[in-house]
Amino acid sequence: MNVADDKTIVKDYFNSTGFDRWRRIYGDGEVNKVQLDIRNGHQQTVDTVLSWLKADSNLAGLSICDAGCGVGSLSIPLAEAGAKVYASDISEKMVEEAKQRVQTVGAENPTFAVQDLENLSGSYHTVICLDVLIHYPQDKAAEMISHLGSLAQSRIILSFAPKTFALSLLKKIGSFFPGASKTTRAYLHREADVVKILESNGFSVQRQNMTKTRFYFSRILEATRK
Ligand code: SAM
Repeated sequence: MNVADDKTIVKDYFNSTGFDRWRRIYGDGEVNKVQLDIRNGHQQTVDTVLSWLKADSNLAGLSICDAGCGVGSLSIPLAEAGAKVYASDISEKMVEEAKQRVQTVGAENPTFAVQDLENLSGSYHTVICLDVLIHYPQDKAAEMISHLGSLAQSRIILSFAPKTFALSLLKKIGSFFPGASKTTRAYLHREADVVKILESNGFSVQRQNMTKTRFYFSRILEATRK
């Protein structure tokens, strides 16, 4: 499968069955046990990033790009904490949902836009991209990280599913049980590769964390300009 196919498939998925599935997971209504586990894991990832940024005590007015923002799970609390958040996502449906959620909360920002992260431009203090790289293969991820890095004045925060022996095995076993949830491919990434890409773009890793529940795995790296 080539790269263009990957992106079209991801976009179509998050505008259809993926939208329904993830909107529920990223919500607070009733979900099945697996989805609940993923919801809790994802919330831990969001909370980790929020706690890092709040600990720096400089969030007020800080410009943040949330690339692949989904339904605004991170963008909305960041805006509420005073950051100036520019959030975007390749899926119109996710962005529509994010806009509705922000109305419910009543925050003045973030701004939400439908945009593929590779076409993003501008310059932001911090660029964040959570749980998006899982949808793209290694070579594509390198391109995406480099582009996001070029938009970041000071810092980039990424999360991805790490390519470890245990996870590779789980993925292999999982592929014997195709289900509705596996409509897109999941790509694992080697941490050493991600770090190398960050370093070759002038960043060095400062903080890191691993969220691990039964069905959700996310390695989070914060890297700042050297
Ligand atoms: N970052 C959000 C969060 O953690 O709550 C959403 C994570 S969700 C698993 C992945 C999101 O990435 C989806 O909303 C999807 O539409 C978006 N996405 C996938 N590929 C993208 C791309 N090339 N550019 C922008 N967004 C993309």
